[in-house]
Amino acid sequence: MSTGTRSTADLDAVVVGAGPNGLAAAVTLARAGLKVRVYERADQAGGGAATKELTLPGFWHDVCSAVHPMAFESRFFREFGLRRRVEFVTPDISFAHPLDGGRAGIAYRDLARTRDELGRDGRAYESLMRPLVEHSTEVAEFTGSSLLWIPRDIPTALAFGLRALEQGSPAWKARFQDDAAPAMLTGVAAHTILSQPSIAAAGAGLALGAYAHARGWPIPVGGSQAIIDAMLDDLRSHGGEILLGQEVSSLREIPAARVTLLDVTPRALVRMAGDALPPGYRRALQNFRYGGGVAKVDFALSDAVPWADPGARQAGTVHVGGTRDEVADAENDVNRGRLPERPYVLVSQPSLFDASRAPAGKHTLWTYTHVPAGSRVDRQEAVIRQIERFAPGFRDTILAAGSRNAVEVERHNPNYPGGDIAAGAPTLWQIVRRPVLSPDPWRTPLRGVYLASASVAPGPGVHGLPGWFAARSALRHDFGTRALPDLSPRD
Ligand SMILES: Cc1cc2nc3c(=O)[nH]c(=O)nc-3n(C[C@H](O)[C@H](O)[C@H](O)COP(=O)(O)OP(=O)(O)OC[C@H]3O[C@@H](n4cnc5c(N)ncnc54)[C@H](O)[C@@H]3O)c2cc1C
Repeated sequence: MSTGTRSTADLDAVVVGAGPNGLAAAVTLARAGLKVRVYERADQAGGGAATKELTLPGFWHDVCSAVHPMAFESRFFREFGLRRRVEFVTPDISFAHPLDGGRAGIAYRDLARTRDELGRDGRAYESLMRPLVEHSTEVAEFTGSSLLWIPRDIPTALAFGLRALEQGSPAWKARFQDDAAPAMLTGVAAHTILSQPSIAAAGAGLALGAYAHARGWPIPVGGSQAIIDAMLDDLRSHGGEILLGQEVSSLREIPAARVTLLDVTPRALVRMAGDALPPGYRRALQNFRYGGGVAKVDFALSDAVPWADPGARQAGTVHVGGTRDEVADAENDVNRGRLPERPYVLVSQPSLFDASRAPAGKHTLWTYTHVPAGSRVDRQEAVIRQIERFAPGFRDTILAAGSRNAVEVERHNPNYPGGDIAAGAPTLWQIVRRPVLSPDPWRTPLRGVYLASASVAPGPGVHGLPGWFAARSALRHDFGTRALPDLSPRD
């Protein structure tokens, strides 16, 4: 690693890693008037929010994240004024969940309409979701902080907890008679790659479901990179700099600065710190567990996906995998280290809503499926078969595909060990202890060193919160600043 072009003498803060969390930290520190430099190993900033031409020229694919339920709900993004800086489209249908026979459960950005189309289960679904949808901001607030903090809205936290207990237990089917509503709930809970049913998966699913019905699941025009570009613009206009193609292997390589914020995993911190970490903290980081992986498949298509259900043709996201039991079996296979025959597949259809993603009349399709950690198996054919099951004729629309197994996902970005895109299994225990049991888990015992990645509370997703909290902790402890810097766009 070179130390870059500018003198290091005037550096206040070094950030390692330019994912959404590294950049959220860098922006916050630069806005506090500090001199900030970011080191990024890749040749493009963005980490899990980069966009590239992965298949054919003119087809723009999100390399990792594609859909941004937290774009409007994250406190960091609200302070940063993301909606004023980046153009989003929000599909009326947040997600569809196809079932055999050409049917699908449809999650509208409108709970009443969702209820009306769920038939006999409409009321049961509505009563589960209504308190969370009406208080989606409060849900985002307490799920978007350290769980060791007392929630400001205790009634909503209680309503959320009781529902997570119900949907995370063997009683999860009790309130339903048909297959669409429970399949929808499991489809969204399965984002976690946890076994089903489980309280942590149910909690994540209920939060994501609440955002789906409240404000929708937005998609940035131009791809996730637009979020990163907005953060880079802000960083640079406040004197920060970023050096690309610079991998930091050891804390000793980092130029002198008062604070260092690391957008890396606990495993990477152990490697980078060598013997410097106190043994207890080092052990806690070594005990941090990583979860199942993903295999990603991107498609360039001649036409939109011919889903049998018309609702799925208008959905931003489609959860493919069939009934609640089928999805649960597939996810439980992955958690037992087996590749499911009929996997659960997450599908995003950005070019239905954003013409800039593909040449005129053509489409990009973003998919991934869960696999055991470290799997080297190419899942392209399994993904095509599952989509074809609910969209006959899909195979004929494929112009090109790009596939990455779980090992390649990690090679692309070491923050996803074994392909674990959550950067640490989001089990109940590891949500509370992320990565250590502390009300300030971002601060490490090393003076001026902070962890700022999705491995730290509140965890995975593009919301910038771990980076923002790490920067706030650094400002408080190392610069004596309690006041939050203003992050809003200056028009
Ligand atoms: C396939 C996939 C699909 C996803 N889908 C979604 C989605 O739809 N919606 C959503 O909200 N989230 C999604 N996620 C998760 C989301 O992308 C991550 O939770 C988020 O990007 C985490 O941000 P981060 O800044 O902590 O880490 P990352 O985004 O992973 O960024 C870490 C950065 O640090 C760099 N880095 C690491 N080590 C070093 C080093 N030693 N030296 C220098 N640089 C280093 C990396 O190159 C990378 O750029 C998805 C992730 C993947 C992989």
